[in-house]
Amino acid sequence: MPEKKDFFNRNKETIPPEDLETLQLKKLRKAVLYAADRSRFYRRTKKLRKEDARFRTIDDFAKNIPFTTKDDLLNGGIRENLCVPENRVAEVHFSSGTNAKPVFTFLTKKDIDEGNAYLARTWHMQGIRRGETFAMFASYGLFSAGFINHYAIQKIGSFIIPAGNVSSAKALELIREFKPSSSAAVASYYLYLIAEWESAGLDFKKTELRHIIAGGEPFTEKQRRFIEKKLGGRVYDQYGLCEINTGLAGECSEKNGLHILADYVYPEIINPRTGAVLGDDMEGELVLTTFHKEASPLIRYRTGDITRITRKMCPCGRTMPRIARIRRRTMETLFFKGMKIEKKQVEDALFELRGEVNPHLWRMEIQSISGRDRIVCKIVPSKGNAKTLSRAAECLKKKLGLNVKSILLTKGEIARLKDSKLKHFGDNKKK
Ligand SMILES: [Zn+2]
Repeated sequence: MPEKKDFFNRNKETIPPEDLETLQLKKLRKAVLYAADRSRFYRRTKKLRKEDARFRTIDDFAKNIPFTTKDDLLNGGIRENLCVPENRVAEVHFSSGTNAKPVFTFLTKKDIDEGNAYLARTWHMQGIRRGETFAMFASYGLFSAGFINHYAIQKIGSFIIPAGNVSSAKALELIREFKPSSSAAVASYYLYLIAEWESAGLDFKKTELRHIIAGGEPFTEKQRRFIEKKLGGRVYDQYGLCEINTGLAGECSEKNGLHILADYVYPEIINPRTGAVLGDDMEGELVLTTFHKEASPLIRYRTGDITRITRKMCPCGRTMPRIARIRRRTMETLFFKGMKIEKKQVEDALFELRGEVNPHLWRMEIQSISGRDRIVCKIVPSKGNAKTLSRAAECLKKKLGLNVKSILLTKGEIARLKDSKLKHFGDNKKK
């Protein structure tokens, strides 16, 4: 267990709350001024002017500065929002997999370096230490989880195994060879590894894993206890989003909410329907403003994630506010291996076959077949079942970048979908 009073940066992590608010106000003004000055998107689409940065209080900021949405970014906002010359961009990171229309974010060298210094705090809080061995099972490639956090963990001085894109057999071999004391992956990956190891008849209690970080998708307390029992370490939740950064918030050893890097991003909770800012401990949609992003800054970005913020003192001694673990989103979503699948993406894919299937009558489920998870999409073809099923699978693969098995909806399921008693997404994997 990480020592309670062992901080990566004591002054920043235990900043008095009133000093944090003063700092946030200063950083918010700077962020709005920067966007109004440098971003065509914020100037033209959001009508931000430099004068708008002269708000006197955080309340004034919330009253006068508009929200940014994912749709804004998808409708051309990403490129319009590039605030540095293209030759200063060092990296680009995408939302997930190979969606037809991914959200991406540009980073300069300064964005990466500054991000590392902040994100390292989250990792250190979750038990990652200099000289220890860390296995990164989060995907590298375009997805931001692997790379960005790889740098942050190097910043701490850990020995890191970049195992983001290896088979489970290889992952197991690496764990036995290098005996990592900590690791990161999406929660379902640990469940998958455990199932693989069990079927290979191996004793994974012999691993040295003590700090097991799970992010990218919600998981239940039951799943947490299962992973802890099987692997013998402690599982900590982590939160982030690729439009900004992964590792923005994480659980400390108290596991009573995720300390958010509130001097790196400004968190607000709003009523998703009215947009009104809600007080502490009230549940609503998380909205984030970036303080330090020079290539792709975001002002009041609506994350779609439902949570609440608490500023009550944490026994660990950190004063950074905590967000509750994310359990649901404002829109219907399915999480699969760290990817978020949205209702609209499935409907877009099925809409291409609108003569053959009803694009609004479907259900997508994660099913667990002997320890392996797969995605199934149930549909209603109007004729020629077999051909339509394989064409639907093709369309879904193209849109989501995933292998999807398509099968028929049963009569009972159709009736329950029509009555809204059945949701479009379901997760039937082993809990
Ligand atoms: Zn704490």
